[in-house]
Amino acid sequence: MTRTVRELLATERPTWSFEFFPPKSPEGEAQLWTALRELERLRPSFVSVTYGAGGSTREGTVAVTERIAAETTMTPLAHLTAVDHSVAELRHVVSRLAAAGVRNLLALRGDPPGADPQSDWVAHPDGLQYASELVELIRSIGDFSVGVAAFPERHPRSPDFDSDVEWFVAKCQAGADFAITQMFFRAEDYLRLRDRVTARGCEVPILAGVMPVTNVRQITRIVELSGQAFPAELAERFAALDGEGPEAKAAVRALGVEVATDLCARLLEEGVPGIHFITMNRSTATRDVFTNLVGPDGDVRG
Ligand code: FAD
Repeated sequence: MTRTVRELLATERPTWSFEFFPPKSPEGEAQLWTALRELERLRPSFVSVTYGAGGSTREGTVAVTERIAAETTMTPLAHLTAVDHSVAELRHVVSRLAAAGVRNLLALRGDPPGADPQSDWVAHPDGLQYASELVELIRSIGDFSVGVAAFPERHPRSPDFDSDVEWFVAKCQAGADFAITQMFFRAEDYLRLRDRVTARGCEVPILAGVMPVTNVRQITRIVELSGQAFPAELAERFAALDGEGPEAKAAVRALGVEVATDLCARLLEEGVPGIHFITMNRSTATRDVFTNLVGPDGDVRG
């Protein structure tokens, strides 16, 4: 039986994990499995698969997670959102994942379906309103290790940082074993959240979500999708290197790897319990950052 993230965090810190999304095409499927197999060699603590906004990509999440459980040596974590799902449907998805041997779930509310992730959230009439309710539901179904989302720069819908921390701690108290942050680019934002959460007596480990930027267009997309700001000073450094030729592309990518490596090194010095890489279904940038941080004998550079 695969280990749970709860068990992993009790025995190996920092954890190293990689996030993937369900592919939408046969080419995407091939790219995903190439990246998964490449990154499997790094022996990650676990790998996660995001939950799509609807329809076939949701089926893809379950199928990819099942296949990771059945055909690889890696421990899967399935993301699950409450978007457009009744409680009965959520129970069904959880049961299916459990039957495939999946023991780790990331409980999320999700963003409203459609082009604008910042539009009004409307709960399914027989569904759930907040991620904390999904944590409770999953806990009531079986012995899963449950994670939740954390936001170093506060969730874009939260009126202020204090209320964001308050609801985050309540979500942890509903039964979360761990949290994973939204991607961020300033260690101070993570440390501020961690310290505020700890000050409220909440000991849930908060894994840091890190995405190596590999091209300048990604930065705009990050801001659109996450609702988070991208530090202006960093954006200027990337923009200064941007261009059409292969040299410019390589320079941008190298800066992305350097920036992510420096961020992780600082977080490791500060005792972060785990680093969670958002891979965009590609292996090379994540692998470069990982090998910059972990020596040939597996010792973490600190
Ligand atoms: P919640 O914890 O429910 O919070 C939503 C808002 O409500 C926040 O502002 C919160 O402060 C507030 N709040 C919470 N409880 C209460 C309460 N009781 N009363 C009043 N206000 C309250 N999205 C996907 O669609 N698929 C994915 O796979 C996915 N993976 C993600 C992975 C990570 C690591 C992260 C950080 C995000 C991910 N997301 C994903 C995005 C996420 O679904 C959105 O950011 C969503 O808007 C918030 O989800 P949540 O689980 O944090 O919601």
